[in-house]
Amino acid sequence: MINKLIVGILPYLPEGLVWIFSKRYIAGKDLKDAVRVTTKLNKMGVKASMDLLGEFQTRAEMIDFYKQEYLRLIDASVTEQLDNSFSVKPTMFGLLLDEELCYRHIREIVAKAASFKRFVRIDMEDSQCVDREIILYKKLLEEFPGHVGIVLQAYLKRTMSDLEDLAAFDRGRGLVNVRICKGIYNEPAEVAYKSKGEINQHFLLDLDFMFRKGICPAIATHDKKLVTGAYRLIDIYQPAPDRFEFQMLYGVTPDLRKSIVEKGYTMRVYVPYGKDWYNYSTRRLKENPTMAFHIIKALFFQG
Ligand SMILES: Cc1cc2nc3c(=O)[nH]c(=O)nc-3n(C[C@H](O)[C@H](O)[C@H](O)COP(=O)(O)OP(=O)(O)OC[C@H]3O[C@@H](n4cnc5c(N)ncnc54)[C@H](O)[C@@H]3O)c2cc1C
Repeated sequence: MINKLIVGILPYLPEGLVWIFSKRYIAGKDLKDAVRVTTKLNKMGVKASMDLLGEFQTRAEMIDFYKQEYLRLIDASVTEQLDNSFSVKPTMFGLLLDEELCYRHIREIVAKAASFKRFVRIDMEDSQCVDREIILYKKLLEEFPGHVGIVLQAYLKRTMSDLEDLAAFDRGRGLVNVRICKGIYNEPAEVAYKSKGEINQHFLLDLDFMFRKGICPAIATHDKKLVTGAYRLIDIYQPAPDRFEFQMLYGVTPDLRKSIVEKGYTMRVYVPYGKDWYNYSTRRLKENPTMAFHIIKALFFQG
């Protein structure tokens, strides 16, 4: 109820106020902010996945601008010797308008990253994007093996079958790399599990499948139960330390993050930045009003 209320008044809140809510979860508005936050995380023994904010673009000049920004980001990361990968959202490059053009833009980013032995992860967006993003991923993986990964969402009913398809595509080469997360978009019950119990159950089934089939998982969650479940699967399958990692969002559950790092596991934090922070924050809230709860917490527990 309160969540819905906050989402309802969102358009009337001044940008400055929304920034107070958002700044805990966003590195800043500029590239230098992302570099600063990543440097700080690296010093704490944590890797980063740097993400330029912006999605669902339709204008060619903006799409080109974002690509140039990513190329600049790769240069900065190399110059500053940061320990990070990159995350991209295909709709930033017009996925829903022109798949071929989107592929060409992202290919340029992946080619540059791969030339510096870096890794690019294709974020997963809403359910209309899944088929297109998997096709894009397979194409890039063939050309840049070891330098590209994808995301799958445990809430989608199709995810296990997508994992089976990716395992078959991999043919035991161990090249497929999947970030498994719960999923952030508000999907209909026809395509998505809706209860937390079901989503958690499928998250761990998906993770179990990945360990069994040699798919490299990035375990992206702040849910203690899932972290404990992941520990159990790691004990069972004993994957090599470079064959899995944990991932969290910047600013979320730092204590749990620290406890995972202290266990000696690889941790990577997702570091979003950019001028599009306002749209990102408000869209996330509209898509997933339960996040309003976290906003209230942020408002009252600023520190
Ligand atoms: C590295 C990373 C990359 C992601 N990439 C994608 C993607 O490509 N596509 C996609 O659909 N989703 C993505 N997500 C989001 C993901 O799908 C979930 O929506 C999000 O992680 C919350 O799920 P949870 O597993 O943390 O469990 P939850 O049950 O939602 O959260 C567990 C606990 O974590 C805390 N928490 C969780 N989220 C927040 C928050 N935003 N602010 C404050 N506290 C919070 C709360 O204490 C909560 O009780 C990503 C998440 C991570 C960590």
